Amino acid sequence: METTAIAFIDGRYLPVAEANLNVMTHALNYGTGVFEGIRGYWNAAEEQLFLFRAREHFVRLHESARIMAIALPYSVDDLCQISLEIVRRSAYRQDIYLRPIAYKSGLGIGVGTAGVADGFLLFATPMGNYVDTERGLRCCVSSWRRTSDNAIPPRAKVTGGYANAALAKYEAATNGYDEAIMLAENGVVAEGSAENLFMVRRGSLITPPISDNVLEGITRATLMELARTELGIPVVERTIQRTELYTADEVFLCGTGAQVAGIVEVDRRPVGVGRIGPVTAALQSRYFDLVHGVSRDRAPWRLAVYEPARV
Ligand code: PMP
Repeated sequence: METTAIAFIDGRYLPVAEANLNVMTHALNYGTGVFEGIRGYWNAAEEQLFLFRAREHFVRLHESARIMAIALPYSVDDLCQISLEIVRRSAYRQDIYLRPIAYKSGLGIGVGTAGVADGFLLFATPMGNYVDTERGLRCCVSSWRRTSDNAIPPRAKVTGGYANAALAKYEAATNGYDEAIMLAENGVVAEGSAENLFMVRRGSLITPPISDNVLEGITRATLMELARTELGIPVVERTIQRTELYTADEVFLCGTGAQVAGIVEVDRRPVGVGRIGPVTAALQSRYFDLVHGVSRDRAPWRLAVYEPARV
């Protein structure tokens, strides 16, 4: 069956090709939008598509909108319903990615947002891997610093803030690396261009605290919970210095897009023995089972799109 990808914009469901914005839109000119990225995983055996932790993403979208003073007239429940509607109308039966954006939709010149109208749109698109999750990533520490809370807050997913990530990713890619690790303005490790960072050192799983200019990642929270409750490994949120990446046993990135991606090299130094380590591998395999609904536990983390298949 041939289907058309459907988007939601200005309160209407439209084919993606017809869901267009005016060139004078404030958010396009000034980066004044807040967004999310949510994955949907197709489980072929169950003929089911699961949206992973959609509620948590929409709670964070509301938080980002508060920071940017963008009005978002839909509740978390409304946003879940709109997501289900889009995926059903598009009839996706594959892994997908949902992209909601709450944005300043007024038309005109001038960076001020007070009194400028707000808009909301949501679209879904098929999506495979964002970064390689099997080979192990080769990363550099970026020469670009992560923006700080008093510049463009990384806690909020602001569209304009991703110029910072784009600069780092461009530098990494054109220098032959898979990803960039970004330091905060004060020189401590923050995160990847669009991923949170963990390292394993002396038997602990360590990640920068949310006060070190990182996004409060949902995958980060998921993995901390799994590590604490299932791996029995101490999880520590503390500042990480750059050279700890060179002496760590394991380093990995995580995020909705990146999922769980081991790092095998930082600044041309092997991480540990230069292969994806056991803690990373254990968390990755558990994560993939959970998001696909292969493991049935932690059901509240998965929002099923379709009626359960009749058996
Ligand atoms: N940091 C940044 C800067 C990101 O863009 C993302 C992706 N949303 C992450 C971390 C990971 O966050 P999450 O696990 O919630 O997708």
